[in-house]
Order: sequence, then structure tokens, then C-alpha cells
Amino acid sequence: MKSFKEIISQAQNKIPGIAAAPGIVIGKAYLFTKEKIEISKAPITDIDEAIKNLNEALAQSKKELQKIFQIAKEKMDDTRAGIFEAHLMILDDPVLLNTIIERIKKEKVQPEFIVADEISKYQELMIISNESYMKERAQDIEDIKNRIIRNLQKKRLHSKIEDGVIVVSETLTPADTLLFSKHNSLGFVTDHGGLTSHAAIISRSLNIPAVVGTHNATQIIEDGRIIIVDGFHGYVFYEPTQEQINFYSEKQKRLVELQKGLEEYKDKEAITSDGKKISVEANVDVSGEIDIVISSGANGIGLYRSEQILDELGEFPNEEEQTTIYSKLASRMYPLFCTIRAFDIGGDKFRFQDYKEPNPFLGLRGIRFLLENETLFRTQVRAILRASNHKNIRLMLPMVSTIDEIWRSKKIIDECKKELRKDKIEFDNKIKIGIMIEVPSAAVMAKDFASEVDFFSIGTNDLIQYLMAVDRGNDLVADLYQEFSPVVVRTIHHIVQGAKEFNTPVSLCGEMAADTLAIPLLVGLGLDSLSMSPATILYAKRIINSFSYKKAKAMAEECLTFKTQHEIEERIKKFFEENKITRTRNII
Ligand code: PEP
Ligand code: MG
Repeated sequence: MKSFKEIISQAQNKIPGIAAAPGIVIGKAYLFTKEKIEISKAPITDIDEAIKNLNEALAQSKKELQKIFQIAKEKMDDTRAGIFEAHLMILDDPVLLNTIIERIKKEKVQPEFIVADEISKYQELMIISNESYMKERAQDIEDIKNRIIRNLQKKRLHSKIEDGVIVVSETLTPADTLLFSKHNSLGFVTDHGGLTSHAAIISRSLNIPAVVGTHNATQIIEDGRIIIVDGFHGYVFYEPTQEQINFYSEKQKRLVELQKGLEEYKDKEAITSDGKKISVEANVDVSGEIDIVISSGANGIGLYRSEQILDELGEFPNEEEQTTIYSKLASRMYPLFCTIRAFDIGGDKFRFQDYKEPNPFLGLRGIRFLLENETLFRTQVRAILRASNHKNIRLMLPMVSTIDEIWRSKKIIDECKKELRKDKIEFDNKIKIGIMIEVPSAAVMAKDFASEVDFFSIGTNDLIQYLMAVDRGNDLVADLYQEFSPVVVRTIHHIVQGAKEFNTPVSLCGEMAADTLAIPLLVGLGLDSLSMSPATILYAKRIINSFSYKKAKAMAEECLTFKTQHEIEERIKKFFEENKITRTRNII
């Protein structure tokens, strides 16, 4: 059978998008087009009647939303269900409702026009905020607007849909997503929306595979035709060939096979057959994922990408706001720990408009930015410290490349501690401070850096790009982005050896940790913990439980002698065969 790479590179019928919820489905497409709502601006004569209609429509909309909220609470946890509670609150917003009523009285036109106009104003403000999170919230509000207007026009909700189809739509509101899931929808494909769109978040929590941000799937896919949705890699195949159907059916079968017995690892430790414990931790990218983390069997959060808060809010939250965010995180995770990484701003992430850089990846990124913008850094450090009194927070610094950056950061952290002590604010005085090792200079200096900090976390996503001089997002040089390159393997070894001299624990939180093929090698190289996407944790635990550290170490040592990535990869594959471990690579 062809490999995944071959299937993908040869496919002319694939639509790329964002892998929003993992899983594979093959099924009938249901093209969901929303009924265009015509809005009348006709004059009215009876104002009382219009206001009565408005109140009835609001009451009906509220009833519908309460029902949806109820379903949400049954199907999802409280945080997710809260999306719908927030919608209900908009319906109760006195300022909005008063403005609408006053305008009806003054302008004497159909309430639907005023409702549309007022809610659109809300949306416009959100859209021009230029932030993906706010833009997506604007989409959500569209649902409330259309709901009220439809109820004003006394129209029924969209026609009945078939059960068990893959819904393909330009956008999906949270309510759509939830209602379709009631019809046992197999998957979701949307032209718009990103990872943080509520449709994506809801799909993940309902375990329905989804690909979002496909741009033009609704124009390409025909209603009622078979499609394939690959929610692991973010592809949709229209008019799939028999070969593609066979490939993905095989994958589905394998997935079912692989998932058997997996659940039992939730409460098990990741421990090699000769007793070496590995902490398997979760990477957290979207704030709503905490529930998934808790149920994933993770030993803690190894990487909390705090810059995602900025992406979601579109601005820097103040100290109080940040303290609330981190405290909530810490208490939700307690007694497990969370490693909060200070804002990794720059590169391809949240960028500060003040800086125009020709080479952002080599520019003011991570700790460099924070030390340049000390007030922001201090605000975040104070907030993290204030949230640390449960003693389960660790603070991690991104993109460190010199020892001086560690010294300056530690000085700032100490000063923040002093201020808090003076103000009699409690915090964890022994909070652990660690650094990301993701720049070659940090890797070279590992031993010296290890004496300065409490832990290391190797960020292979960046480390590989900087070691190999390949942009991690550039398709043209993707072949050179090799995680099994001898350069990468030897560098990881060098970092671990340096850290060991000071008993500094080393974790690895790049995507490499989630590549199940890499796990025996990483354990053999001496890593103490691996941090990955929650979906991979149980697979990782199972693999770690199926070999001995002694053998993995010997295999890793052999790999350190190889000169090509091919030799290393082949040796690892042989290790899987020798130890009769099922390979899960390319399945998840
Ligand atoms: C990394 O570089 O490996 C890492 C985990 O950080 P990020 O992907 O957030 O840059
Ligand atoms: Mg990084």
C-alpha cells in the first residue's frame, strides 16, 4: 500500500484546511447552505404591535437557545456549554434591547431592520479588531441575529437533515454544530474558521472529526457525494478514488484496532519494563482544552503556550486579568502541575505591530521581546507568581539564546517576588524556573545553562528549523526538516548530557514528542519527560510500557553513530520490530 506522503502528494482532488478535530470519516456530504434572510425596512404604523412582536421573537429565541444550552450541558462540559450561556446573555443585554426599542419608536420601521442594524454594529466592531478570535465571535453573533429575525418573521428553522452525513458549510455557528451532532453527523467541513472557532472547539469535545478553513470546499464538493475527511492532517478529498477510499478505510480500521485497550493507560504510569518512569505531559494551545488534558491521562501540562491568550484577546491582559486566567488554570489542574511559558511573541506568532522585521524568526522573539518590553514581562511574571500559591505552577522562558538573558530574567523574577512579599501577597517562593532549549546556541551551552535553571524543555519545532536552517512552515524545503537527522539526534544527546551534570531534568515539548516513532529514541537518549498534544498521550504511554530503557539506550547510542536520517529511521523501525511494538506513526 502507498504511504501517506504518496497518497497526499499524488492527490489532485484534495482540499487542504486546518485539522480542527482528529479522526477519519468517509461519508456522504451534506451541503448546508443557510437560507438567505431578506430584511424589510418597511415603515410601520402600529408601534405597540411591533414591540409586542419583538418581545415575542426575543422570548422564542431565548427558549430555543435555552434548549440548545441544555443539550450543550448534557453533551459537553460547563466551560464549553458556557458559549451558549453567553449568547443568552446577549439576549438580555438591557442596553442593546433599549436601543432597539427606542429606535423602533423613533424611526417607525420594521423591528427586523433595527435588530439587524444594531447587532451588525456589534459585529463590525469585532471584525475590525483584526484578531481571529474576535472575528470568530462575530460569526457566532450572526446566529443570534438571524435567530431573532427568523422569529420576527415567524419562520421555522432549516429543513430536516439526514442522519449520519458529513456537514459541509461556509461557516457553522456553535448552535449549528451542536444540533447537527444531535443528528449523528459524522464530520464537519467549513470554508471559514480557525482552530479556535467554536465549531472547532465543539467538534473536538464531541469527538467529531473536522477540517475548517478550507476556503472553497462548498464550491467544490457536491451535495450527496462521498467525501473523505482527514481530521488528523487537515485534508478533505472530493470524488475520492478507490485507492484513497481503500487507504483511508484501512486507516480507520487500524485506528479502531489501535484504540483497543488504550483507555486502560489513562491511570497507568509511563514506565519502561525495567522501571524508568517518564512523565508524559500535555501541550496546551487553546484555553478550552483543559478538560481534554485532564481526561487525557497526562501527568501535567508540560507546555502552556501563554501567547495564545493574546491571540484570543487581541491585546495584553492586565495583571489582574492574567492572574485570574493562570489561577483558574492552576486550580483546574491541581494537583497536577502546569508549565506556563512566558509569552513567545514574534516569529509567526502574535506580533507586535510596532516592530517591522525583515526576518521575524531571527528577530525580536520570545525572551528577547520580553526583555525589550520589560513592563509587559513584569506584569506577566507577577501574575504567574500570584497564581502560584497552590505550588503547581512552573515558569518557562522561550527562545533563550544567551546566559545573560537567563540572568536578566531571573533578576526580574526576583524583583517581582520582592515586591509581592512587600505587599504581603502569597506566592510559591520556590517556583521552578525553566527554559526552552530551541536555539542552537542554547543547545551548545546546555551545561552552563543547566546550572542556572530548574529544568529544560527542548523545543524541537524551532530547534530543527534553526539547526538545519529550514523555515518550519516552508513547503519547498520541507524535505530538509528532518527530526531524525543525525544533527538533531546528536544535539538532543548533547543537551541531555549537559543537563545531567547538574541533575537538571529535561523534557521535550516539540512535535517530535508526539511522533510515536521517535519515543523509544527519546527515552533512550535520557529524556525525563515528553510533552505532546493530549490526543497522543495514551499511545505514548502504551509504547513506553512496551520496551526496556536498557535496550532503548543501546539503540540510541547506535543511532548516535549514524550519518544519515535514513539509517536512524530504519534502526528505530527495527527496534519496534525487535520489541514487537505496534507502530502508530502516520495513524495519528
Ligand atoms: C518548539 O519550538 O518546539 C515549541 C514547542 O514551541 P513553539 O512550537 O510554540 O514554537
Ligand atoms: Mg518554539
